[in-house]
Amino acid sequence: MEQKIWLSSPHMGGKEQQYIQEAFEANWIAPLGPNVTGFEDDLQQYLKDNVEVAALSSGTAALHLALILLGVQAGDEVICQSMTFSASANPIRYQGAIPVFVDSEPDTWNICPIALENAIVDRIRKGNKPKAIIAVHLYGMPFKVDEVLTIANKYEIPLVEDAAEALGSTYKEKACGTFGTFGVLSFNGNKIITTSGGGALVNASKEQKEKAVFLATQARDTAAHYQHSEIGYNYRMSNICAGIGRGQMEVLDAHIALRREMNAFYHKLLSNVKGVTIFAEPNEEFYSNHWLTAIVLDEKVLGKTAKALRLALEAKNIESRPLWKPMHLQPVFEEYPYYGEKVAENLFNSGLCLPSGSNLRDEDRTRIAEVISHFFNT
Ligand SMILES: *Cc1c(COP(=O)(O)O)cnc(C)c1O
Repeated sequence: MEQKIWLSSPHMGGKEQQYIQEAFEANWIAPLGPNVTGFEDDLQQYLKDNVEVAALSSGTAALHLALILLGVQAGDEVICQSMTFSASANPIRYQGAIPVFVDSEPDTWNICPIALENAIVDRIRKGNKPKAIIAVHLYGMPFKVDEVLTIANKYEIPLVEDAAEALGSTYKEKACGTFGTFGVLSFNGNKIITTSGGGALVNASKEQKEKAVFLATQARDTAAHYQHSEIGYNYRMSNICAGIGRGQMEVLDAHIALRREMNAFYHKLLSNVKGVTIFAEPNEEFYSNHWLTAIVLDEKVLGKTAKALRLALEAKNIESRPLWKPMHLQPVFEEYPYYGEKVAENLFNSGLCLPSGSNLRDEDRTRIAEVISHFFNT
């Protein structure tokens, strides 16, 4: 069997081990330390807009802290884009709050502004104004930021921006992760950069960041003894993981360029295939890091399904994956309210994510092209 081609695998830049080595030499193995501060500085400079970044143990932890800092409590309602990874929605339940799921729109596959406003109006009418909106930049594609922010501001509901997949993406030349009351990043193993596991909360102010770090380090009051007046969490990033992150930041833009080249490769490969749509930026205001390239197959035109393509790739040891199954269709969330039509559901039924790693080689692309061309008889 030929070597496995992964959907998206870690891609080290070269300097990561040096930062870890420095941590070992100074015995900064414990959480916190110079790599954590350095990684946070790197992210702040990259994102611009005077944001304050707190490096955390995961993107999920960042989402959880965002909801806590917004005062979300048991019984509150929180709106969440349905088409996403479950980690966007799980923290709502950690708080005992109720997720209200909203459909996608076809341009960006992200939260539909019309369905969002319908949901807000209906929840307010039912006497339960949502406490927050979680919108996601899926696969690196910015959601319709202006439209979503206009609605969030109109109803005075804070926006939590799940940019876990979108580090390096921009909307109107402003970085994803900097639009919401809070932004969330992830550095899990398969994301655009990795710290082997980690995340960050993007804050609008120093005070907000300090509060997040306080909660993420067990909520210790200022006292020599261990004094606590709030429930805390162990959510901080370790100095070792942050060392990997510093090395990864040096190659982030180069790796985004490579992901975008993978996207261009698929455009070229599939441009003449009727019935295949490649997920693309709606216009030049949207700039995607193209973390994953996804396609949608029109079964009526092609007489073939996304599943059949996935199995054809798998037979050659090439990984591909269905799109995120919408949360309102998940057994664990199906009892909660949903607003929208079947946009997300149809995408899930007909879409496929293709190998998109920044570390794929020419021979990998040749193998991928062979399977895909054969599948579509081109
Ligand atoms: C990966 C991901 C998360 C969670 O990040 P972790 O660091 O894995 O906890 C949240 N939301 C989305 C959309 C993701 O893709």
